[in-house]
Amino acid sequence: MAARGQPAYRVRQVWRRRAAGATFQEMLDLPATLRSELAASFRASSLTAVRRLDTDRGLTTKKLYSLDGGYTVESVIMRYPGRSTLCISSQVGCPIGCPFCATGQGPFGRNLRAHEIVDQALDACRELAAEGRRLSHVVFMGMGEPLANYAAVVEALRRIAEPTGLGLSARRITISTSGLTPRIDRLAREGMPFTLAISLHAARDELRDVLVPINRRYPLAELVAAADRFGRQTGRRVSYEWVLLAGVNDTERDAHELGALLRGRLAHVNLIPFNPVEGAPYREPDGRAIRRFLGQVRAQGLNVTLRDTRGRDENAACGQLRARVLAQGPHEVGTAPLLRRRGGRAVVPPQHPNLVKAEERSVP
Ligand code: SAH
Ligand code: SF4
Repeated sequence: MAARGQPAYRVRQVWRRRAAGATFQEMLDLPATLRSELAASFRASSLTAVRRLDTDRGLTTKKLYSLDGGYTVESVIMRYPGRSTLCISSQVGCPIGCPFCATGQGPFGRNLRAHEIVDQALDACRELAAEGRRLSHVVFMGMGEPLANYAAVVEALRRIAEPTGLGLSARRITISTSGLTPRIDRLAREGMPFTLAISLHAARDELRDVLVPINRRYPLAELVAAADRFGRQTGRRVSYEWVLLAGVNDTERDAHELGALLRGRLAHVNLIPFNPVEGAPYREPDGRAIRRFLGQVRAQGLNVTLRDTRGRDENAACGQLRARVLAQGPHEVGTAPLLRRRGGRAVVPPQHPNLVKAEERSVP
């Protein structure tokens, strides 16, 4: 706007109108010459929706977008009474390669650019505005490891949180990470009070090395210390995510280890029943086992809740819509065409290809 000799408030105007779904030509509060200039110079969005899936009787909407280069990513809108949450993606695929995760099992494509992350939020704003709703919360729990795409994620966060951008309070934004500890410290220094969610899933290194392979690089003691520092610097309680895998991390031993690790810390534990992924050697515990584990963790003196399981029908959990579309073809440009299938044992080979990729590409 400055380069076009326009006043600074035009930025806010354009953002607001974009979030309501207007094209540049429809932004009638802008001068006509500016409208034409913008329409000739820019695309209104970097994303094209290629699939849409409405579940939970219309309360959950999952969208698959295509991006430059032919890649695809997903995001999910979850509607609740009085709030609407968007689950956003930060990478095409994920280099961390957790063996229970559909995204981690597919090929890694590339980092999203900041505007591609923000455009997911803008599209959700537009969709919700048409229903008389407002986007109220954003969680970085879609595809990808947000801290492995640090610069773009922080830039997107700023644009989503700043009053001249979407103006969502930082407190309503959650960043979920598999645990890149140096970047957790860096995030704390950004000076924005986001909620940090740590994908813990195991409270002993031997098991976490398998479930979240980046643990081999940044083990539990280091991770929890970084999360504590984040909590102290931002004054925010840290969330710990625990995806429940039957017989793997839902035993009394696991509850005790979790208690020993987190007791006395400013922490909240979120249990997430495993959402079955084709080819992954894990099962979801039954309702009784879930309630038993919840009670055992609570008995450790921890703050713990069970996450609701939105969008589970029809492969609608994170990474699964893309996985299905990829498996059907046509395939994305630049990625291996078929998903690797894994059966049998709950073990990741020591030289897991995604982990090697993670080390080469994006992990500090
Ligand atoms: N890469 C980041 C954020 C995206 S994953 C991270 O791992 O934190 C968001 C959450 O979904 C993580 O806690 C992850 O462990 C969980 N998740 C992945 N696959 C899942 C599945 N099949 N069922 C349930 N939760 C899953
Ligand atoms: Fe990546 Fe998160 Fe999936 Fe692990 S759980 S593979 S870190 S997206």
